[in-house]
Amino acid sequence: MQTHPRLSSIVRQLIQQSAGIDSVQIAVGELLLDEPQLRAQWDALVSQTPLAKTKLNIRVVPAEQQCMVCFLIYHPNEKETACPQCKSVGAKIINGEELYLELD
Ligand SMILES: [Zn+2]
Repeated sequence: MQTHPRLSSIVRQLIQQSAGIDSVQIAVGELLLDEPQLRAQWDALVSQTPLAKTKLNIRVVPAEQQCMVCFLIYHPNEKETACPQCKSVGAKIINGEELYLELD
């Protein structure tokens, strides 16, 4: 799997800003990457850099979709796209594709 470009730019930015940060927190939408994928990509990016010893905390942002027919907002199970209420497809994704650094 290819490294997500947004994750690469977060890591580049962290490396430029400072060395020896103890820990960082990254929020990731559950539709984008799961936790093991994000951790694997992070590990690959930070090896041989000042961030290699930095602890990565991950906050998963739950997915939310809105049906464009009946406007029900629901949590998609198994990344399904059919509305649980009216069964139409083509929902709008409200949350779940985030990837950003969270600062205290
Ligand atoms: Zn619907």
